[in-house]
Amino acid sequence: PSKEKEDAKIEGAVKIAIGVKKEVDFSTWYTNVLLKADMLDYYNVSGCYILKPWSYSIWEEIQRWFDGEIKELGVQNSYFPMFVSAKVLEREKDHIEGFSPEVAWVTKAGNSDLEEPIAIRPTSETAMYPYYAKWIKSHRDLPLKLNQWNSVVRWEFKNPQPFLRTREFLWQEGHTAHLTSDEADIEVRQILDLYRRIYEELLAVPVIPGIKSEKEKFAGGLYTTTVEGFIPTTGRGIQGATSHCLGQNFSRPEMFNIVVEDPTDPTNQRKTYVWQNSWGISTRAIGVMVMVHGDNQGLVLPPRVASIQVVVVPCGITVNTSSETRSRIESACEELAKTLKKGGIKVKADLRDDKTPGYKFNDWEQKGVPLRLEIGPNDLAKQQTLAVRRDNGIKSPIAIENITSAVSHLLDSIQSDMFKRAQESFHSRLKEVTKWEDVVPGLDSKNVVVIPWCEREACEDDIKERSAKASEPTDERAPSAGAKSLAIPFDQSRWTAIEPGKTKCPACGQDAKRWTMFGRSY
Ligand code: AMP
Repeated sequence: PSKEKEDAKIEGAVKIAIGVKKEVDFSTWYTNVLLKADMLDYYNVSGCYILKPWSYSIWEEIQRWFDGEIKELGVQNSYFPMFVSAKVLEREKDHIEGFSPEVAWVTKAGNSDLEEPIAIRPTSETAMYPYYAKWIKSHRDLPLKLNQWNSVVRWEFKNPQPFLRTREFLWQEGHTAHLTSDEADIEVRQILDLYRRIYEELLAVPVIPGIKSEKEKFAGGLYTTTVEGFIPTTGRGIQGATSHCLGQNFSRPEMFNIVVEDPTDPTNQRKTYVWQNSWGISTRAIGVMVMVHGDNQGLVLPPRVASIQVVVVPCGITVNTSSETRSRIESACEELAKTLKKGGIKVKADLRDDKTPGYKFNDWEQKGVPLRLEIGPNDLAKQQTLAVRRDNGIKSPIAIENITSAVSHLLDSIQSDMFKRAQESFHSRLKEVTKWEDVVPGLDSKNVVVIPWCEREACEDDIKERSAKASEPTDERAPSAGAKSLAIPFDQSRWTAIEPGKTKCPACGQDAKRWTMFGRSY
């Protein structure tokens, strides 16, 4: 606190610093940013957090955009109950094995024990698919494409982190059923590309699309595709969102028995089990955005998801300023905000009369507002405003004439510059490694290592173990130190072509199949 006071005072205002530097104590920095930006508050159940309007509005932006896109693909929204009976939850063996340690159960109502405990959904495959079996009676009922915007509960014991890993989280879960595997495959990739666009186009966060290893795929699924993100400050990977092909694993007769007659069979005798996908993105995306873009002044919001994109602040008003000049400046600010609002820009004029400009600057910087426009007596005289970018601090005067298009352009540049910077930083930390000796040092210097990998599960376990030992001293709150496979990128062209039978896996010496990203991760 004394440090805060020291850092303080510009123009008589108390400067509320973030307190610790991003590069020095990343996890304290992260929670300070969230608290000072007023995005989040702690809650009295461990692992659960309150999403305040400043962060929930970002979720609403993601929802609005993604919901529109999936409706274009013919997906409809619906809602299933949050409770799942033990009987259906446990029907798919691999699936329940994957989730059972994290399932929360309702065992009591008031003082009486329930006859049968009821699970709270950790995901809704097993809640929904008995009804898919009931509703899908003919190939004409296909495809069935439902989505729900809901919350799920996973009672994680790994250290919780706001947004990234919480015990209850908001997400959407899409569940679709198709006649053919081709149709399912196409949709898996369409959805994954929408997730990529949420990260890259809305949140200005670069991700790498790829497929998960057998070990890391969704429990009970056929294969899992993912968009993988990266936090440069810690050098850790983070799973951004996943789009799974479940194959026929859930539709087969011993499972949910979702079956139609095969329309290609002239005798109408043959049955076919439907092909299913499930896909989800959670509020984790907000945390990734904060970690990637935030700086030592606080949050930095990409314009496309900022609920306030521009703040207008009257400046240069002192005790000596005449009341006439003061009111002219203030009405110029209001006028400017009105004009911008008409042009579709999300703007606020900050006319609080009990706060100094310095206080306001700091306040909106902590909250990450992309652009500040200042109007003082000189600006008024010249019919201009001073624009200050949050992302890089660059100041430039702009004329009030045509202000809307100038500000729109500026917001577009901020959005694309933020993405470009983050992308350069991610790409510069993707290290192509072909010798085992380089793997741990590569990880220790905060890279994702990309190796020509054999794709064997035993090798993945071995890499995890061998990369944990030599690791950096870790924060007690930090996630595991061993590296796991993050994804096998779809675009393999970035790296030297693998020669079948010749290129070897640096971890085990067996034949390499594809370049695979390994990293310490969240
Ligand atoms: P999954 O159903 O395990 O594939 O998870 C779907 C998506 O939800 C993942 O890609 C993660 O981004 C996200 N997710 C998983 N667990 C959590 C959690 N505990 N808190 C927040 N987001 C999560």
